[in-house]
Amino acid sequence: MKQYDVVIIGGGPGGLAAAKGAKENGARSVLVLERDSRAGGILNQCIHDGFGLIRYGSMLTGPEYALRAEKEARETGAELLTEAMVTGLTPDRVVTAVTRQGLLQVKAGAVVLATGCRERTRGAIAIPGTRPAGIYTAGAAQNLMNTKNLMVGKRVVILGSGDIGLIMARRLTLEGAQVLAVIEAREQPSGLERNVSQCLYDFGIPLHLGHTITNIQGRKRLEAVTMSRLDENNRPIPGTEIVIPCDTLLLSVGLIPENEIAAQAGAELDPVTNGTVTDSFLHTSVPGIFACGNSRKVLDLADFVSLQGITAGRNAAAFGQGLPLEPMPRETSNAMAKGLPKPGTITCIRCPKGCRVTVSPDGRVKGNGCPKGEEYALQEVKAPQRVLTTTLLAPDGSLIPVKTSGPIPKDQVSVWAEKLRTIPAPAGPIRPGQILLRDPFGMKVDLIAAGKH
Ligand SMILES: Cc1cc2nc3c(=O)[nH]c(=O)nc-3n(C[C@H](O)[C@H](O)[C@H](O)COP(=O)(O)OP(=O)(O)OC[C@H]3O[C@@H](n4cnc5c(N)ncnc54)[C@H](O)[C@@H]3O)c2cc1C
Repeated sequence: MKQYDVVIIGGGPGGLAAAKGAKENGARSVLVLERDSRAGGILNQCIHDGFGLIRYGSMLTGPEYALRAEKEARETGAELLTEAMVTGLTPDRVVTAVTRQGLLQVKAGAVVLATGCRERTRGAIAIPGTRPAGIYTAGAAQNLMNTKNLMVGKRVVILGSGDIGLIMARRLTLEGAQVLAVIEAREQPSGLERNVSQCLYDFGIPLHLGHTITNIQGRKRLEAVTMSRLDENNRPIPGTEIVIPCDTLLLSVGLIPENEIAAQAGAELDPVTNGTVTDSFLHTSVPGIFACGNSRKVLDLADFVSLQGITAGRNAAAFGQGLPLEPMPRETSNAMAKGLPKPGTITCIRCPKGCRVTVSPDGRVKGNGCPKGEEYALQEVKAPQRVLTTTLLAPDGSLIPVKTSGPIPKDQVSVWAEKLRTIPAPAGPIRPGQILLRDPFGMKVDLIAAGKH
């Protein structure tokens, strides 16, 4: 059986960073096993920007971030095997995977679990009603629209105000759907404030806090949902029902760490979250098996997942060499500002903090945490601008993630998203960063490839 110093299960940002960390800390042989046909994990379908500010100091789309993370891992000499689905892990670290070449079994000096998370479904939250077509998790809809060019519906309701739901509200709107409501049981949105601002408020999408869906109607296809107000004990208040005719419902109601492989190896899981239980060195209850990223604990920023992945990889390499382990970086991501943008304030969207900034009539700016906040707020008062991220259809039928090379006027974003739906990408190979359309808006802004297709 082939031996590796470190085997990493999952090639998302956590696994890729772990590969880099392990190699840089002395592991001679590192293997990443990824079940998908490419590395990058969930980020491949997140075509919007906002990734990488902490780790790379620039605003990247998900596919751009994934490409950088993959390049870094490969540059260290780590082996990356895609279309390799891990189906078994023993406590003494024998890893079994199903690959294109057949069954693969390897023995690992140490293992890093980086298997990510999955979304909660309708079954998990038990909404009453019929079972028509047209009900998706937000991530499944994101995958269909952003990687397969399949539109999920025209009149859409979103349950849950997590970041994926908010991002999808904007994406659906830019793709020509009407998002009728985002419905949230809590009295606060659960996503980042900047996403409430740039994904809902920018497009006038109503957000109903303290409400839930109490009925689903439709035979073949979804026809309507019933929304009800919740009381302080989270129970629907009779008489508050509103029927919303719609053809599609997206669920953005939470993520569950994916840990079947960890469980097989006997690693302790948190009974409430299903995340792997680790000590501060990211070591699970099974010696030599480490965990990072969303399979350990759902983090809302990929940047923090990568930082954690580096430590998990470094510690996995240290374990095999009998070196001391390092504590993981402080977890700051889930403490990011969340809330509802305050009337009269501007929520800065330049970073995940979402500072609430005010501009007085004489132009004085308050509340910004950095100079970018001041610049953003002054521009927002004068003439709001946004970067447009979308996809172009390539002649071979694949979708290319694209973004504008700079911001364009906010009121032009929907107009240009619509126009770009009819403009094909140039034929031939396309490399990330390539200018695909030179100044298509007549605003000295190009359209550039923001990932691979
Ligand atoms: C739908 C969705 C949308 C998101 N949008 C954003 C966003 O806009 N901005 C942001 O900052 N964060 C976003 N996140 C969170 C962000 O994607 C995560 O923080 C980050 O991707 C987690 O990295 P990870 O490596 O832990 O997991 P993932 O990115 O999920 O990667 C896990 C990888 O493990 C692989 N895998 C799992 N099981 C196996 C197996 N048995 N064998 C082989 N491979 C396996 C999977 O195929 C996957 O590639 C989103 C998350 C989800 C679920």
